[in-house]
Amino acid sequence: MRNSRRNFLQQLAVSAAAMPFLTFEQQALALVPQNRQDRVLRVALMGLGGYATRVAEAMQSCKRAKITGLISGTPAKIKEWRAKYRIPEKNCYNYETFDQVKDNPDIDAVYVITPNGLHHDQVIRVARAGKHVICEKPMAINAREGQEMVDACRDAGVKLLVGYRMHFEPNTLEVIRMRNAGEFGKIMFFQGLSGFKIGDPTQWRLDKTLAGGGAMMDIGIYSINGSRYMVGEDPIWVTAQETKTDEVKFKAGVDETIQFQLGFPGGAVASCLSTYNMNYLDRFFMTGEKGFVEMQPSTGYGPIKGRTHQGVLAQPHVMHQTLQMDGMAGIILDGSQPVVPVDGLEGLKDLKIIDAIYAACATGQRQELSL
Ligand code: NDP
Repeated sequence: MRNSRRNFLQQLAVSAAAMPFLTFEQQALALVPQNRQDRVLRVALMGLGGYATRVAEAMQSCKRAKITGLISGTPAKIKEWRAKYRIPEKNCYNYETFDQVKDNPDIDAVYVITPNGLHHDQVIRVARAGKHVICEKPMAINAREGQEMVDACRDAGVKLLVGYRMHFEPNTLEVIRMRNAGEFGKIMFFQGLSGFKIGDPTQWRLDKTLAGGGAMMDIGIYSINGSRYMVGEDPIWVTAQETKTDEVKFKAGVDETIQFQLGFPGGAVASCLSTYNMNYLDRFFMTGEKGFVEMQPSTGYGPIKGRTHQGVLAQPHVMHQTLQMDGMAGIILDGSQPVVPVDGLEGLKDLKIIDAIYAACATGQRQELSL
């Protein structure tokens, strides 16, 4: 039944104008040229920590992406992961040797899942080794670094994608479809609340060099990125205010709590919160002249839940990273276009907004944005 539906959908010739009216599954399939759907993206994972563990598990359900290599600074992890995912020794590297992926025909792309402050150098080395790069968010720790990464990947002729898993999430895509179809009317207001209470004070997420900042880099970015894909525009100004209750845990340059506001060219405004000091904050709300949507959880690992003025959001839950990696395989192997971009320029836009938020906190001045 599922296969026949799939076959039927694959026959559809869908024009771009019709895309907003299709379901998530129809959109995803319509974007992949039929004769190329059998190629598989062979991926080396770099940095075998908490999130890579989740990605690796989710990739076991991928149809178009598989793990063929490992890059780690911890030999014991390589041993364990090699056995678990059946990776040959010749496809395993450490941080000193991974430039040699250049000569490895079993690896098409490297997925960088290390602390934020390392992404810039690692992505540029992968690009120079001639492999496509998928890089976790935040793509880098500031826009200057991000621009250098975009330039390096362009010069090397490889693709740079950012691990924005929500761009492939079915309920999120349903909201975007509704917005594109005009079902909310003119968008007036977005609210994004992103935060959690962070534990261990010695972790890299609270180290300015490795994290690049604090909550904004790690979790606030979901409200930044989310405001853009929910409103469907890039902001043109930002204001921001920082509060800090613990100067020991959150040292200079490591933000604890920031509230920020964004203005969009169509007249919508956004009000957002980013924090490492409050729980139960994973919520989006958006209202337009004809309707509203609220999502909670909005960007966690799901299932994403929410409702609109028309009723409950009821798209099926699939592990986000499974959808992401199959979607990214289509982008890299087939040149397919995702509904919401996930390329380096998309990552760079968020970094420019983060730079502006930090500047607004430091100066108290509204910052104009040109994305
Ligand atoms: P972890 O600390 O769990 O893992 C990071 C791994 O990076 C380590 O296990 C280690 O792997 C490697 N590493 C290399 N150098 C260092 C270093 N100097 N200090 C610490 N680790 C190092 O972090 P996460 O997996 O949670 O986060 C990694 C990246 O993924 C971050 O950019 C984060 O923002 C992003 N992330 C994205 C999520 C999403 O939903 N998209 C969710 C969670 C994180 P090894 O021992 O193999 O070298």
